[in-house]
Formats: sequence, structure tokens, C-alpha cells
Amino acid sequence: PSQGEVDLNNAVRAALEVTAYGARSSGIMIETDLIRGALSVMADSDHLTQVAANLLVNSQHALAASTGDKRIKVRTFRRDNGKCGFLVEDNGPGIPINIRHRIFESYFTTKPVGVGTGIGLSISKSIVERHKGRIWYESAFPTGARFVVELPAVNGGA
Ligand code: ADP
Repeated sequence: PSQGEVDLNNAVRAALEVTAYGARSSGIMIETDLIRGALSVMADSDHLTQVAANLLVNSQHALAASTGDKRIKVRTFRRDNGKCGFLVEDNGPGIPINIRHRIFESYFTTKPVGVGTGIGLSISKSIVERHKGRIWYESAFPTGARFVVELPAVNGGA
């Protein structure tokens, strides 16, 4: 794997590019809010793009059955504790509380055979942890899923 200084904004942009067609063709509005300036992390950029793309595709799946407006929000952020990251949020049904503790397990899926493999989130988690970061789920308001990825910024974000 090729580690180097990566701008998280660019990793997120690349993921948006590979998933935009699917979103557009199913009537999903994607709102992006990328922080100004570079958001540098030490990473394998392809792997980070893979994580963002996994989250975007999951949100698209979650919105497939929605009848109202379908929205995905993607944001990058920098905190003053030396961390930075991105989040992907949708206004789908969210994840029922009784299965939340299993979503990062390998092969855990609620999708039909052939659609879900249950490896997207477990791979995403191992990629993020290999980069000394964290990934977690939050419920979005009033409904929906939000996945947050947080990584150590280069130079503590200075
Ligand atoms: P897969 O997408 O193949 O099922 P994942 O590991 O990516 O595997 O996801 C595991 C499970 O987590 C999904 O089957 C689904 O139940 C739940 N999930 C993931 N993302 C979302 C989301 N944005 N909204 C609702 N449920 C989700």
C-alpha cells in the first residue's frame, strides 16, 4: 500500500465521482460541504476513497425504498484536537437499535443475497483503524444514518 499525504477533500471528491451516477439515476440529491483548504492525513488515498464510496453506496441503498425526498449529505471537518474527517449522512430509515452493534461485523447484512455481502463496513473499519482513526454510526435527525470517520491530521492539523 502506498502511504502519503492525502487531502481528505480529494478522497471524498473521488468517491463522489464514482458514485454520482447511481445517485442521480435514483433521484437522490447530494449535498456536499467540503472544508476550505487541504485537510491532510497520512493515508493510502485509494483506501480512503473506498471507505467514502462504501458509505455513499450504503446510503443510496438505504434510500432506494424511500418515497419522499432522498438526500445524502457529505461533509469534511477539522477539529481543534488534531483530528479531521468526513461524514456521510442520509435521510433514509436509519439503523434499528437492535442491530447497530453488529453492522461492523464481517458478513453481517440485512440485504438480500446477491445485493449485500456484509463486508463493506467491516473493510471500512479495518482501513480506518489501520490509519489510526475511528469510524462510528450515529442516528441522523429526524431519521436516517450518519457515519463519521475521524483521522489524525498531519501536523495535528496545524
Ligand atoms: P452490505 O451493504 O453489503 O449489507 P455493510 O457492511 O456495508 O454490508 O453494511 C451492513 C449493514 O448495515 C447493511 O446490510 C444495513 O443493514 C446496515 N447499513 C449500512 N449503512 C446503512 C445506511 N446508510 N442506512 C441504513 N442501514 C445501513
